[in-house]
Amino acid sequence: MDDGDDIDDLLNEAEQSFNSRFKRQNCRVSNISVVDELDDLLAETDDIKDYKADKQQKAVNPHSLEEVVKCFPIYLAGSHFPCGLGNISKKLSCDKLRCTSCDMKVLWFEDFAWLASLDYLFLRNNFPNFKELRSKLKPQNGSRAYCCQCSWQTVNTLTFLKQLETKWVCGQH
Ligand SMILES: [Zn+2]
Ligand SMILES: [Zn+2]
Repeated sequence: MDDGDDIDDLLNEAEQSFNSRFKRQNCRVSNISVVDELDDLLAETDDIKDYKADKQQKAVNPHSLEEVVKCFPIYLAGSHFPCGLGNISKKLSCDKLRCTSCDMKVLWFEDFAWLASLDYLFLRNNFPNFKELRSKLKPQNGSRAYCCQCSWQTVNTLTFLKQLETKWVCGQH
């Protein structure tokens, strides 16, 4: 083997590795632009999907199943009233209430009333632990003490939810 061949080999090797690196880089660059284009396309598809979903939602029949499984109107009541899915002819106290403000399920305690000393901070720190909340409840026959993590109500009779100052809704039955 003579030195000239060695040098040629070395040069060849260097050239090859340079070429392949260059190709790879090019490849990566073109990949990026393909990915970008794909992203754009996907975004457009999402827009179309959103648009379709939007249209479908607007076309929902007001008497669809979804509305049937929610109370309308929503009643709250004292402990002598049965619970369930309520409507104008079936006055049941909603037992699937949810708060849209703290996003918690509304709890209630049968035959209890909230003490006037209950405050927001206490509720926030102790909800939903009955053992802790118990110190702000007094036994009261016929009442229900309702609460979420941000608000509370004592209810004795059949009451329209909208008459109360809460952000509660029927969360479906
Ligand atoms: Zn309900
Ligand atoms: Zn709340």
